[in-house]
Amino acid sequence: MMMEDPYGRTFKKLRVSLTHECNYACLYCADSSAKSTTAASLLGTPIPAKQSLLPVAGLIKMISNLHAELQLDTVRLTGGEPMLYPDVLSVVSELKNLGIPKIAMTTNGHQFYSQASALKAAGLSSVNISIDALEVETFKKMSRNKGLENVLMSIDKALEIGLELKLNTVVLKGVNDAQILPLLEFAMNKGILIRFLELMPMGPLHQSYKSLFFSESSILDLISNNYAFDALPKEKNATAHYWSINHQKAFGIIANDSTPFCSDCDRLRLDSYGNIYGCLSSLKAITLKPDTSAYLLSEALTEALTHKQQLNFKGNLRTMQSIGG
Ligand code: SAM
Repeated sequence: MMMEDPYGRTFKKLRVSLTHECNYACLYCADSSAKSTTAASLLGTPIPAKQSLLPVAGLIKMISNLHAELQLDTVRLTGGEPMLYPDVLSVVSELKNLGIPKIAMTTNGHQFYSQASALKAAGLSSVNISIDALEVETFKKMSRNKGLENVLMSIDKALEIGLELKLNTVVLKGVNDAQILPLLEFAMNKGILIRFLELMPMGPLHQSYKSLFFSESSILDLISNNYAFDALPKEKNATAHYWSINHQKAFGIIANDSTPFCSDCDRLRLDSYGNIYGCLSSLKAITLKPDTSAYLLSEALTEALTHKQQLNFKGNLRTMQSIGG
């Protein structure tokens, strides 16, 4: 029988944080002392020192158990930076062997281009590449790193090999809001769908996010200076809603504050230490093992489902990076 909460929600999409580590330290994701981020620099629930990254076999066994219970439609590999996981190619091909219909990745694009073709051949269906600016200094400010050239190479590579691609841009007021139009035009010229994200109150900006918050209506106002657009109907279980320009689906906004999306959320998260979370804002980790029995797994999932929030995400000190964005 399908597991469902009183709001009719279940788990169909699994986000797997392959590693907490990242080679960027984005303003909204990592604390100010980080150049690139490791587990030790993350805020949120401390990670016991003896825990280590799951090896491929254990990880795949856990996902296989979850798939048997939930009949997942998508597994998204994320992090941290998923391309830093030592054997990301094996993970993709093993997931393909499990018969998961869609295997997706969210990456910062720093290294993606170098393995894009191999990942596609292994079974990767789509990729979301994060890009917060096209202007070099703003990019550096947002990511606390250099790497714009690499990200652009990854975008071109994904297009060249015909991998389904979307771009993600987190908008911070006074930092990269002037990049919205250039990024939208860049995406439209290349025929890529871009999504602008309202800042979510997580991790280092949990307390202070209001001062950097740039709302959905501000994004729309800015775009309306140059373009006429029409709203498209919201798709079920989607975090983003979309607008068309000249009858082409052109951009989306993921607006946790303005247009919350918890009410039909179907996502489950698995972190790189084998903990599952029913909600991005849950501080309650439920630890699984590759040999967790079907009975205990079902109990764990039933509990995780109770952690979903009713309407919108409240946030806490946990970073997106530690739970898998
Ligand atoms: N390293 C990969 C990347 O950069 O795409 C994957 C992990 S990252 C945590 C996943 C997504 O979460 C990125 O698109 C990032 O911009 C977004 N993100 C992280 N913290 C956020 C926050 N506080 N508010 C909104 N989006 C956030």
